[in-house]
Amino acid sequence: MIPTIQSKLPQAGTTIFTIMSTLAAEHNAINLGQGFPDFAMNAALSELVSKAMADGHNQYVHMNGLPVLREAIAQKIKQLYGNPVSANDEITITPGATYALYTAFTAMLQPGDEVIVFEPAYDCYIPAIELNGAKAVTIPLTPGTYKIDQALTRAAITPKTKAILINSPHNPSGAVLEEDDIAFLTDITSNTNLFIISDEVYEHLIFDGKKHLSILQYPHLYERSFVTFSFGKVYNCTGWKTGYCVAPPALMKEFRKIHQFNAFTVFGPVQYALAAFLKDEAEYLELGSRLQQKRDYFKNLMAQTKFEPLPSYGSYFQIYSYANISDEKEYDMAVRLTKNYGVTTIPVSAFYKNPVENKVLRFCFSKKESTLEAAVERLLKL
Ligand code: PMP
Ligand code: GLN
Repeated sequence: MIPTIQSKLPQAGTTIFTIMSTLAAEHNAINLGQGFPDFAMNAALSELVSKAMADGHNQYVHMNGLPVLREAIAQKIKQLYGNPVSANDEITITPGATYALYTAFTAMLQPGDEVIVFEPAYDCYIPAIELNGAKAVTIPLTPGTYKIDQALTRAAITPKTKAILINSPHNPSGAVLEEDDIAFLTDITSNTNLFIISDEVYEHLIFDGKKHLSILQYPHLYERSFVTFSFGKVYNCTGWKTGYCVAPPALMKEFRKIHQFNAFTVFGPVQYALAAFLKDEAEYLELGSRLQQKRDYFKNLMAQTKFEPLPSYGSYFQIYSYANISDEKEYDMAVRLTKNYGVTTIPVSAFYKNPVENKVLRFCFSKKESTLEAAVERLLKL
């Protein structure tokens, strides 16, 4: 007899990012689906990795992350968000933000707990909650603006609510949290036992003069939060899968209990390279304006097509409506665009537990101008 697994994720298929990137490759389509830049990362940074290896930094680094890298991150956080976090007690380097989120959920959740998740939601959140025996209570963001609906959120909080998950700049919409959202979060969490998980991987990818409001800059919110980041997004190297989690000492202590028996530590040479490279503030501070140019370049090109943009204030992404073009479901439209027109996108319906159809697709504009031009040339045939 061959044993069978009783699935812990019986409803899960393959993530939409893999489905669409595989389809793009099969049809030789221009891939504006999965979020990754198609231009070269900074050569100075990749050279620092080679140097670290050549210098012999090839053994385990400290389980919480290379101390000088944690120091550099702590300094950056103090400078940007005014929070004097301890490199020793409050920062852990992780193999990507996805892992950091999973570990944070595992640290805090007990079976039967509820976590409030705003939809559309990045696709790793709900499975991570469910794998930890908890329930994701989904709340739709306001259609069009993708802003938090305060009344719906208040109504969803029950004695079982353990945490609220936020993500700004937001994937897939590019919406960003504003001061009124922070005031609301303050209001609903103060004098409660609620945790916050704040996914801030796109912290520097923010446009139009907006300022990233990090949970790290609000002590009364930070005291109950796990905050996650990804170097892949900051330095155009998503394949590096290196990130970090920041949380107050008592929370981080539990996070590390799990981390030490899972990844234990992260690829070392990259940590040496990042520790040196983080000293160059301009590299991350100028990222938003560089990416804003790409968003605008793409948007101007897309104005020739029948697609209608929804606002994007941050991230790699902009959502476009195809209501003027077709009545198809989003997944069907995304597949047809790939197969017949050679352009790959992500159906926003994939960011809901129970797909919601709004005739919208997510485009990744973090690409070379020539890639964006070629994609729009193809879309003009629609
Ligand atoms: N959160 C969001 C909102 C994302 O878009 C991504 C995508 N990369 C991640 C987390 C995961 O980051 P990492 O690749 O570092 O795991
Ligand atoms: N975060 C990326 C996106 O939203 C994809 C990461 C992944 O493929 N898991 O497209």
